[in-house]
Amino acid sequence: MLIVLDSPQSCARVGAHLTGEGALVEPFTDARPPLLAVVAGAPPAEQVRGLAGVVDVRPAAPYLSTRHAGGPRTVDVGGLVVGGDAIVVAAGPCSVDDPTRLGRIARGVRDAGASVLRAGVTKVRTNPYGWNGPGPGGLPTLRQAAQQHGLRSVSEVLGVDDVDAFAESVDLLQVGARSMQNIPLLRRLGRTRRPVLLKRGFGCTVDELLGAADHILSGGNTDVILCERGIRAFEPGVRFSFDLSAFALLKERTRLPVWVDPSHAAGDARLVGALTRGAIAAGADGLIVEVHDEPAHARSDREQALTLDAFTALMAEVRRIAAAVDRPLAEAR
Ligand code: PEP
Ligand code: MN
Repeated sequence: MLIVLDSPQSCARVGAHLTGEGALVEPFTDARPPLLAVVAGAPPAEQVRGLAGVVDVRPAAPYLSTRHAGGPRTVDVGGLVVGGDAIVVAAGPCSVDDPTRLGRIARGVRDAGASVLRAGVTKVRTNPYGWNGPGPGGLPTLRQAAQQHGLRSVSEVLGVDDVDAFAESVDLLQVGARSMQNIPLLRRLGRTRRPVLLKRGFGCTVDELLGAADHILSGGNTDVILCERGIRAFEPGVRFSFDLSAFALLKERTRLPVWVDPSHAAGDARLVGALTRGAIAAGADGLIVEVHDEPAHARSDREQALTLDAFTALMAEVRRIAAAVDRPLAEAR
């Protein structure tokens, strides 16, 4: 049982009352709205509904990320509004390779219409012998390239101990598909004041993704963006299968903004355009796309990286489709 309360004080009071009655409760006082989970010994729902300060009583399923918890939410990413009218595009290389290159890519994606620079510094690779990125030491390179070109930045944070360093350097903290179920990491991110881009695990359901979002939101961090990035299906011609059905379901069920990553879904630069166009037409609030000035030299994910020219051409199409669904594109600073 999940009890929705009108204030942190009510959360504490109702918690104490139910504990006195023999229930085992877990308070989420910092969540907005505050929640009280009754883990065991729940009294009948009608009885709980009658207590002062109780707004609602629900099954203990994902709640804060769903529409039950309220209307659509916007997320502030370094002054950029995500989940409003404007579509936000994050673009850049898979990983921070070298500063000169990153500067070139940043300028190119900004000129094409991106407003956020993406680049991983700690790469989690399926291939045990793949490039792992420069590590958190690469964060200043990312920050400098983004700032110099009027872009916000997004990068994947892998471990609980890295959260503070990343939160100081980047505007948006990315949780990778392989980390979507790293509960200690999600919990830790619930206690930061930086927005989080939460990617769907490629073997995870929509409900599990919303549950992961609730792990962050229940800690008091209200700024979570979800991202569909493809799931493991049975077509070997694509790296993952872009799940437009799940995207549609998310738009229906969640109050959070939803982005799409066509690059990791496709795994092939030639397929990125079609997935992007479909996602924008379907109502994506943002995109995260891999772009490289010389894909053949990318140290990770070179097959799926768009050239700057291909990205520029794609952005022209994105603008046209966005206009058809009455949405502008967010601007860089
Ligand atoms: C990435 O965006 O750099 C990445 C590794 O994506 P995913 O976690 O979706 O595989
Ligand atoms: Mn990548």
